[in-house]
Amino acid sequence: MAQTDQIIAEKPSEQADLTASRCKELSIALAQFPRVSLGHFPTPLEPMDRLSAALGGPRLWVKRDDCTGLSSGGNKTRKLEYLMADAMAHGADTIITQGATQSNHARQTAAAAAKCGMACHILLEDRTGSNDPNYIMNGNVLLDRLHGATVSKRPGGADMNAEMEQLAEQLRAKGVKPYIIPGGGSNAIGALGYVNAARELAEQATGIGLKIDALVHATGSSGTQAGLVAGLAAIQSDIHLLGIGVRAPQEKQEAMVYDLAVKTAAHIGTGVEIARDLVRANCGYVGGGYGVPTDGMIAATKMLAQTEGLLFDPVYSGKGLDGLINLVKTGYFDGMENVVFLHTGGSAALFGYADSFELPGYTT
Ligand SMILES: *Cc1c(COP(=O)(O)O)cnc(C)c1O
Repeated sequence: MAQTDQIIAEKPSEQADLTASRCKELSIALAQFPRVSLGHFPTPLEPMDRLSAALGGPRLWVKRDDCTGLSSGGNKTRKLEYLMADAMAHGADTIITQGATQSNHARQTAAAAAKCGMACHILLEDRTGSNDPNYIMNGNVLLDRLHGATVSKRPGGADMNAEMEQLAEQLRAKGVKPYIIPGGGSNAIGALGYVNAARELAEQATGIGLKIDALVHATGSSGTQAGLVAGLAAIQSDIHLLGIGVRAPQEKQEAMVYDLAVKTAAHIGTGVEIARDLVRANCGYVGGGYGVPTDGMIAATKMLAQTEGLLFDPVYSGKGLDGLINLVKTGYFDGMENVVFLHTGGSAALFGYADSFELPGYTT
């Protein structure tokens, strides 16, 4: 990739020096929080040149958080490094968490609990009503069970926080010491993982002389975006951050992200103000609802598999990618040179949605 070489700066600019020193300060602030090592960091930052050529917009890059390493990877690993450390600090021996049937968060939590020598109880909410055997037993559900988690189902619309509390009570009565991780690992502790990811990405870009104009990713339970908002604010980055929603309407999604970003910044205690207009979500790619496949997601997932050899997922990163591709085509990034898509993982869910892709069979 000759183009990659050309962007390597001759000498670090003043801006690069400033970013480097702010990243260092943020590292020091984050070092006050306990963290267990669960993944492979830094994750790679790679150009997607065949996709960029096919779309004809800015140069597109991918930040490979699908390569965090834990049980096929994904964004929850960064959050779990802080959450599992907090669980241990509280003397817990058992983790309780919840998610949708094909939850990537549940799978990474089951793996993290295994690695930390803790038991794990997972409550899965049936948000789609699908009876497809792949959906209910394969993909992430297969891996939850393989990692030794106890898995139980709850109907769609159940109060999952109340369900987790109730289970925790029952376990406490038996002398177990449970620790509840909220859905998606999204609270001010989990979001620290993405504060640190903002720092990691900024340092990585500075290291290769790359100026990132925009960062795009799928946003759901909001911890990823909230952490990025707080992290980018802490290093005074002007990267344009955009979340592509997978469930809630825009107003609700942005309010959730903003609320958690403010809490996360307060938790770090660096006194950084979070401006409300730094929180942007485009929720125009959800389609029929959370976890329900869309034509755009299918097309985007196939396109990336076939132009870049990359695997995305039907629930999150595939819809995020659909958003990215459409926004490139409609000129959202016009005037920008480098746009990074944060790959939040999720490919294990593909096996829960095998039939949605209507792929050709064998040829003779
Ligand atoms: C959970 C998840 C997201 C969304 O991250 P949040 O922090 O919940 O907003 C995006 N992509 C994948 C693959 C996920 O599993």
